[in-house]
Amino acid sequence: MKLLAIESSCDETAAAVVEDGRLVRSSVIHSQVAEHQQYGGVVPEIASRRHAESIIPVVDKALLDAGVSLGGIDAIAVTYAPGLIGALLVGVNFAKGLALASGKPLVPVHHIRGHIAANYITHPDLEPPFLCLVASGGHSHIVNVRGYTEFEVIGRTRDDAAGEAFDKAARSMGFCYPGGVYIDRAAQSGNPKAYRLPIPRVEGSPFDLSFSGLKTAVVNLVHNASQKGEAIDNNDLAASFQATVCRILTDKLMLAAEHTGARVIVGAGGVCANSGLRTSLQAACDQRGYRLYLPELALCGDNAAMIGAQGYYEAVAGCTASLSLNACATRPIDSPYSRII
Ligand code: ATP
Ligand code: MG
Ligand code: FE
Repeated sequence: MKLLAIESSCDETAAAVVEDGRLVRSSVIHSQVAEHQQYGGVVPEIASRRHAESIIPVVDKALLDAGVSLGGIDAIAVTYAPGLIGALLVGVNFAKGLALASGKPLVPVHHIRGHIAANYITHPDLEPPFLCLVASGGHSHIVNVRGYTEFEVIGRTRDDAAGEAFDKAARSMGFCYPGGVYIDRAAQSGNPKAYRLPIPRVEGSPFDLSFSGLKTAVVNLVHNASQKGEAIDNNDLAASFQATVCRILTDKLMLAAEHTGARVIVGAGGVCANSGLRTSLQAACDQRGYRLYLPELALCGDNAAMIGAQGYYEAVAGCTASLSLNACATRPIDSPYSRII
């Protein structure tokens, strides 16, 4: 089954052709990051306008690269939630137009389910069930993935997402948006023990996460140093911050694995591109004899190939939508199908 997949939830306009959920025939990503950088973050109104301008050339190129026409496509998958509403609406309405014109089924895909499905592309042998850490720009979850379309969130952030903490800490260190990758680079030549940063204690659920205290500690450290005219070593601070985030994520995930008995561990989302996190998850899994799967770097951030991968499994499960499908800014990953269509 060949799917044309469309993704426009944030600041990447993307389209891909994916076969049977695993084989990427084409993947096109048009990033708006350079334009948003000057504002220090994504400006929703600009994102929507750029999606509207880019979507036709991006979809055309995805079909061209795959060597198929719309007639050769079996279904159209689209990210319908969660994300910036104006940005999502561009992709959803474009996909609805294509579905109407071609008579092909429309498959709504949850963006975070897509991030998890990026692993099905990188690892042809990976099948649920597994325990998944989702660490992205807007989400930090520990998810029990019971089946391709069956999810149970067992831990979530109480405040900031891991990626958000990376970006805000990076901003206070003077790096441009999105700063996660700059922290990663600076950390390579820094001392992770140079600055003592707080490990959050989250009351209640043992698998819940929190990053706002850590982020604020970095922001205050930089602010106080500048007030006193003291210098901050950015490499040391980046390394200390990154090591703390990695420790929090790895410890919570291992605790959840112990509790659930999971032996197959998966990572998903933009923060899983972080070299420190990849190393720390691998070391923790090796130590316990768990198998670890991470998406290849190119599939950690937003792309449409992952939407095509998850879209295939949604279609197989019969989760298609009518042309009254709407976009949704917030929607839990385990939302029942009846609430989508
Ligand atoms: P969501 O998927 O939750 O809706 P999003 O789509 O904006 O949010 P992603 O594209 O998954 O998020 O990931 C982007 C985030 O990943 C940003 O916060 C970015 O800084 C972070 N990131 C990317 N590369 C790295 C890296 N090497 N180290 C740390 N963080 C990184
Ligand atoms: Mg982005
Ligand atoms: Fe994302």
